[in-house]
Amino acid sequence: MEFIKNYEKDLVYINKYKSISKIIDLYVSTESQEDFPFTLAKQTLINLKNTTTDRNELMIFVLEDIIYSSLYSTYYEQILVTVRENPDVAQKLITVFDENTEERERIISDQTENHIKFIQNNGFCKGCSDCANHSDLEELRQNWDNNNFNFLVNMYLGMQNIQNSMEQLLYEFLLEDSTLYPLLTIENVIKYRTYLYDDAQKRMEEYDKNILNI
Ligand SMILES: [Zn+2]
Repeated sequence: MEFIKNYEKDLVYINKYKSISKIIDLYVSTESQEDFPFTLAKQTLINLKNTTTDRNELMIFVLEDIIYSSLYSTYYEQILVTVRENPDVAQKLITVFDENTEERERIISDQTENHIKFIQNNGFCKGCSDCANHSDLEELRQNWDNNNFNFLVNMYLGMQNIQNSMEQLLYEFLLEDSTLYPLLTIENVIKYRTYLYDDAQKRMEEYDKNILNI
């Protein structure tokens, strides 16, 4: 009966993501390319591993990148929804978003630094410009405190996959196909994020179980 169960699970999965199937199909269609979002995510993890000397050092980089990608993805989510709301000037919006990359990355780096201090200081902060958002990090902080390396690596790949895929959607798919704009409701963008996170976990299991043996 395992087969039936799996089949039913697949059906639930397909229905859950039905409204964004067009975007998912585009994402999956790039899976054999070198710049496929998950392939890039995995490669950056391997690069990180190769540039660090021990697990503790690697953990800190992984933690930083999780927070950075997570913050970055919220900017992508905002621009995607804005494109849907302003289809007439979509191309211009995307160009301006691209031009603001340096400034955006500076802001995200500062925010990341504040959150890292909070986590490394056992959840205490004497006051910073991002205190209002520290509470979003509770699950991550607990797993950091427990040295849960598997959790951090899973989250790393999930977040990197989201960031890379949102970038792909914005700069590749949307620039080529304006019929995608109406799909970018806030619900669908959140759905896509969930899909990408889950997909990264699945691909990691299938692709290389040894990735965790760092
Ligand atoms: Zn703070």
